[in-house]
Amino acid sequence: MSKRYLQKTTLVVASGNLGKVKEFSYLLSEFPFLVKPKPEDIQIDETGDTFVDNARLKAFSVANITREWTLADDSGLCVNALGGAPGIHSARYAETDEDRIKRLLQELKPFNDRSAYFSSALCLAAPDNKILVEVQAKCEGLITKEPRGSKGFGYDPIFEVNNCGLTFAEMKLSEKQALSHRGKAFSMLEERLANIL
Ligand code: IMP
Repeated sequence: MSKRYLQKTTLVVASGNLGKVKEFSYLLSEFPFLVKPKPEDIQIDETGDTFVDNARLKAFSVANITREWTLADDSGLCVNALGGAPGIHSARYAETDEDRIKRLLQELKPFNDRSAYFSSALCLAAPDNKILVEVQAKCEGLITKEPRGSKGFGYDPIFEVNNCGLTFAEMKLSEKQALSHRGKAFSMLEERLANIL
């Protein structure tokens, strides 16, 4: 084990979304990182065309300002009958989680196909635009007709995971992580991290 591994590297999580910060803190708890949330005054415009572009943009920007290793995620829900919407616009689809869910259920009403997937791109960057690890993963499921469950955040109450019968909002965090887009992407990141720490 290298000295750096024992010393604890500061890792900034480049997200202002409390639900995500909670999930990352849980996922990173086994690692020798001193995890810090991004300073509140740093706001990054998500101008990329893909989840990967946006994760990279957030990681580079925050790493350059803080001069620390930075982990950024860009994720969202892609609904097949809606041509992949809300996709990279998931956070901006309406003002609140409740309104985002209402809008999605309304727009999906005319369609029989309720298949959808969550996608998560993760980028771990060092200052000076150096990518340390970059991964992407998906979780496939169906949009329910009504919200179910009270855990989680965002679109969790209307996303039922394939071959499982539960929405993300009906699962404990540990169950969600075993199946979710972010949990899967994180497992990939974890493997790669072992090689660079
Ligand atoms: P961003 O990656 O911060 O731009 O935002 C992604 C948006 O997608 C979030 O604000 C949520 O609305 C949604 N989202 C991403 N991951 C999840 C999840 O695991 N559960 C529910 N909603 C999610």
